[in-house]
Amino acid sequence: MLFIFIYSGMEQTWCDIFALLFELFPHRWRLVYVEQRPIGGNILYNYNDSAKVRFCCEKCGHGWTSMKGRVAFYFDLTLPGIVTYTLYGQQCQKCESQHYEDSMWYPEEVAKVLTNVRNEIGHIFYGLYFNPKEKMRRPGKPRTPHNSNLCQACKDGICVDK
Ligand SMILES: [Zn+2]
Ligand SMILES: [Zn+2]
Repeated sequence: MLFIFIYSGMEQTWCDIFALLFELFPHRWRLVYVEQRPIGGNILYNYNDSAKVRFCCEKCGHGWTSMKGRVAFYFDLTLPGIVTYTLYGQQCQKCESQHYEDSMWYPEEVAKVLTNVRNEIGHIFYGLYFNPKEKMRRPGKPRTPHNSNLCQACKDGICVDK
C-alpha cells in the first residue's frame, strides 16, 4: 500500500508539495511541523482541514481508515513566511492503548489541504481571488462511525466541519 512507504518520508512529502504550491508568492514561505498549536503574542491565524487518512496501531497492528484525519495550520498575520502545521492522531479501539497513533496521509490529500491553505494565504496576504475550499476526499466509507473518545482533534475541540 502506497501510503505505508510514503510515511517514512512524510514530512518531506508535505514540504515538497508545499514548496511547489507556494513558489509563486512574493515572499519565501516555509512549512514547519509543530507538535501542538503555537503560543505567543503574535496574531495567529488558524485554518483547519480534514482528509481521508489511515491509522495503524503500533501495539496490536490494527489498522483503520478515518475520514476525519485532521490538520491544523497556523500562520502569523503580521509576518508572512512561515506556516506551521499540526497533525492529530487517533487511539486504537481494539487495545485501548491510550496512545494517539500518527495519521498516514495519501499524497493527494496532502496536496488538497495544502492547496486550501495556499488559497487562504493568497487571499489574505496578496488579495488573490478566493478559491472555494476543496472538500473532496478520497471516496470511501469507514466501517465504523467516528469515535470522539479516541480522537485527539475532538479532544482539542477542532474536529468540527466548518
Ligand atoms: Zn491496538
Ligand atoms: Zn474527531
